[in-house]
Amino acid sequence: MRTPVIAGNWKLFKTSGEASELIKGLIPLVKDTTGVEIVVAPVFTVLDRVAQLTSGSAIKLSAQDCFWEEEGAFTGEISPKMLRDAGCSHVIIGHSERRQYFGETDETVNKKTKAAIAAGLTAIVCIGETLKEREDGIMNDVLMRQVSKGLEGLASFSNVIVAYEPVWAIGTGKTASDGQAQDAHKFIRQVIMDKFGNATAESTRILYGGSVKPENVKGLMEQPDIDGALVGGASLKADSFAAIVNFGK
Ligand code: PEP
Repeated sequence: MRTPVIAGNWKLFKTSGEASELIKGLIPLVKDTTGVEIVVAPVFTVLDRVAQLTSGSAIKLSAQDCFWEEEGAFTGEISPKMLRDAGCSHVIIGHSERRQYFGETDETVNKKTKAAIAAGLTAIVCIGETLKEREDGIMNDVLMRQVSKGLEGLASFSNVIVAYEPVWAIGTGKTASDGQAQDAHKFIRQVIMDKFGNATAESTRILYGGSVKPENVKGLMEQPDIDGALVGGASLKADSFAAIVNFGK
């Protein structure tokens, strides 16, 4: 039984006051929700504030990135240990925006994932093909490479969540159809099975991301290999994120 995860990626939005307002609005809307793991990923500067506000609630805190070293002369970076210290239980790794704009590769994703797990964080590892890769017919090769290299040599998978986010569906309003998303998730689970074994494939949560909204979450969540959602735009308002979290109600 894989507990569904709904995670909100706030990206580069929300100052401290705005983040407080969002969380204060969200808490009452999800306070009776059961059977769903709820995660929010604010910017680094408001982690501490959001940690204080979510304390005592079921909402878990994630960062949007981390470095792989614990400490040292690495100006501008933040370590998994520091994220734990700030109250995080999760961290997003290898988001397509980081791959696209900040030079993330499968190798850096792998190093970061290992470091995050070693520090006791749950890593939400993002993968997904671009529109060109899909149109060129190499989508499955890309997904297989991202899974194999990004998750290579992990000590354990119990703290790993995979997020399948087709790049062409992120922030564009274009969602993969339920069938397209299910096909990709099934393929990813098969790759995990081939590389890391049956038990790992069965227990690993695979989230869908890409313009998830209250209107389309239900159909996606009905697919057998979709175990939740990574939500960008629609996580920035309490009512739309709560409606996604409460997809089963
Ligand atoms: C994301 O940021 O991971 C994402 C899926 O964004 P959006 O929901 O806005 O497409």
